[in-house]
Amino acid sequence: MSTKEPRPTGPVSVPGDDTLMRILEGIARFLMWGGIVAMVIALAFLVNTIMVFSGGGAPDGAKAQAEANITMFRTLLLAGGLATLVGTAYLFFGEEILGPMQLLAAGALYFAPFYFPSMLGPGSGTPIPQQGLAAIQFTGLVCGIGAILCIVGDVISRVKQRVKQGAKAEQMKYGKGIKAQDDIQNVFMGKCWQLPYCRKFVREKCPIYHSRRTCWKEQVGCMCEESVIQNAMAGKITPSDVVAAAAYIPRNSKLSPKAKFERCKSCVIYNEHQRHKYKLGLAAVITSVLLLYGLGRGFLLSGLSAIMSGVDSAIGAASFRETGSAASIAREASSGMQIFREILLICLLLMLMAYLLKLIEYLFFKVKI
Ligand code: SF4
Repeated sequence: MSTKEPRPTGPVSVPGDDTLMRILEGIARFLMWGGIVAMVIALAFLVNTIMVFSGGGAPDGAKAQAEANITMFRTLLLAGGLATLVGTAYLFFGEEILGPMQLLAAGALYFAPFYFPSMLGPGSGTPIPQQGLAAIQFTGLVCGIGAILCIVGDVISRVKQRVKQGAKAEQMKYGKGIKAQDDIQNVFMGKCWQLPYCRKFVREKCPIYHSRRTCWKEQVGCMCEESVIQNAMAGKITPSDVVAAAAYIPRNSKLSPKAKFERCKSCVIYNEHQRHKYKLGLAAVITSVLLLYGLGRGFLLSGLSAIMSGVDSAIGAASFRETGSAASIAREASSGMQIFREILLICLLLMLMAYLLKLIEYLFFKVKI
């Protein structure tokens, strides 16, 4: 399922700001490529250290040097990961694929202890290889959180645009370019004649207005059906009685209901109705996620702990690391770990909210239910 529509991506150039934009773009490219190079170098050294120590070929007395190297390359890997994250976020902001690709790359680092030990020697469970793997995993975790924030940032920018504009103006065929009328209040989830594109001179003679119905339900209206406008221009009298006026609603037998709905999908009035539905959906999604966090926090945190322990045990088994020891139990129960779990839960809920918002955007502005 894709919500992809023509949408400006990357930096938007504004006349007069070209130099600044070029400088920022240059910095972003430098961060991205510099970050990738730093990551490759750091990974090469970390992997080499891990392999030497897991294979048992390390010279005596090299342990202290290896630990110092791991500390240094762990910092380089993290810096490279963050620089790549920032650079790609700036250059490809708005691309659907950006967030998932960043998450995928972060996941590949985070789960390195899962697949990497199978390539290692019998000493992969010893401290140096374990520290090296932990350094790679840590960068994956930080970058994963960064990728989630990128997805959330992208969704926030989409939400702002959708709340303000609704569907893209270029998708409009009926009523394109028409100005919102000042004489009418924009009633939230109102009928077509309560929305700002209903023109007074048409409304006064419009059978849909007098019958208190809506054009999208009748599938004919002032924007798409010529006779509605023609009758208004000709000053044709329409009864103001609700029942009698309904008989004056024009019927178009030449078009199928599907073809009529296609007209609605590219009409400014129906788009305004969709914008209202989207706002309603937006409020529902945000409220639901907040309620989920507020009411289900304890349950979600214990579920997350169980999943994390499961993953940790699996990684421990894959990398021959000792699990279930007193030290690892104490680490699990530490307040730092609890704060980390809380942050992770919030990040996951933000991601859930981001994808639910993408879903309602797809439903209301693409499928246009
Ligand atoms: S069909 Fe057009 S003119 Fe008639 S009530 Fe609806 S928006 Fe107003």
